[in-house]
Amino acid sequence: MSQESINPDPSCEDDYDPHSMPVDEALRRIKAAIKPLQVSESVAVRAALGRVLSVPVTAPFDVPPHRNSARDGIALRSSDLREALTRLRLVGASFAGHPYPHTLAAGEAIRIMTGAAMPAGADSVAMQEHVDVDGGYVDVPKAAARTTHIRHPGEDMRAGASVMPAGQWLRPADLGVLASLGIAEVPVYRRLRTAYFSTGDELRSVGQTLAPGDIFDSNRYTVHGMLARLGVEGLDLGIVRDTADEVRRAFEQACAAADVVISTGGVSVGAADYVTGMLRQMGTVNFWKIAMKPGRPLTFGHVNGALFFGLPGNPVSVMVTFYQFVQPALRLAMGIKGGEPPLMRVPLAASISKQPGRVEYQRGILTAANDGSLEVSSTGAQGSHILHSMSTANCFIVLPLESEGAEAGERVSVQPFEGLI
Ligand code: AMP
Ligand code: MG
Repeated sequence: MSQESINPDPSCEDDYDPHSMPVDEALRRIKAAIKPLQVSESVAVRAALGRVLSVPVTAPFDVPPHRNSARDGIALRSSDLREALTRLRLVGASFAGHPYPHTLAAGEAIRIMTGAAMPAGADSVAMQEHVDVDGGYVDVPKAAARTTHIRHPGEDMRAGASVMPAGQWLRPADLGVLASLGIAEVPVYRRLRTAYFSTGDELRSVGQTLAPGDIFDSNRYTVHGMLARLGVEGLDLGIVRDTADEVRRAFEQACAAADVVISTGGVSVGAADYVTGMLRQMGTVNFWKIAMKPGRPLTFGHVNGALFFGLPGNPVSVMVTFYQFVQPALRLAMGIKGGEPPLMRVPLAASISKQPGRVEYQRGILTAANDGSLEVSSTGAQGSHILHSMSTANCFIVLPLESEGAEAGERVSVQPFEGLI
């Protein structure tokens, strides 16, 4: 990958900077540098949740495998039914797992339950509610057989049909589909290994005491959460002090252990910002000033065979840059095929302001009115240090580069944090 530097001496204060890199361009360059995992392993179906299928799956047989009833009722031969009520002889029953072993003869019917195999000779099920059972007989109106209420073999999945592509990120429904095909061991890519650390002399971990000027490290906890949700391994390398030696040692350790290394803090151009400089000595590194807010400076490259992301230090910037750059990159590296969920367009509940020049990722709250229609509002103050805004939010409001804000009722782009998965 080429060494690229849009602006070697960026300021993070000005909103409009013709040298800054668009978000899409940065993402395109990051994606171009990713090599997806190739190594597979086999895991039990339950353990495959959140893993990535490495081989396409085809159905080895029809699902459902046999003709069965979609209702509790009476299985019959529709040719027996006359215009008026028809009296049929009840000759047995078919329960789920206990099929009726004979062929229905003319004038015969059996009781049948949902999911039970249809007997040979029968071509329709009359719902229980539409018939009258009278001892060993049943009276069936012709209209009761208008719908057959039969599930046919292969209606769900046909033998030989392709069911799931390689690269499927396995969700609960997928586990069920694999199980219904009798697949006990699932081929998946090996887990992606990541390592992460925070940089900053002011940082203490939870459990320690704060001296004047100290703050608790929150980035390692949000990063842990975002990595865990993606199902990758995350090695926590702790807090790294702002010295060239400590930063170098952390990188060496991280690169030896992981496919992808993520650091937070120390990527600006302050006197104590060692990350980018150290990486330049150790590998191939890009320092980009991205036209986004929050999260302007981003360092990205390769060090000792590992992919490296140097995220900014401010807690909201960390989460925004993770979701916009690191998560798509990790998904690609994990072998996931298919993109991130699409943006939604939702009307604003109240106007919001913005300076032109950068794409803004404001924290938003998406709500549904009584009639089910959605609207979105800002969480309030949008400073990149206000981590609580991420906790109250359930979405990003994404405002384009040149936008100067938006009025109440105007539709804006929204990235929901989560949905049913
Ligand atoms: P930096 O990019 O290192 O200059 O950090 C920018 C801001 O983010 C400073 O206010 C830091 O104190 C804060 N910060 C950096 N790392 C963390 C962290 N791990 N947890 C909480 N705040 C942090
Ligand atoms: Mg720092």
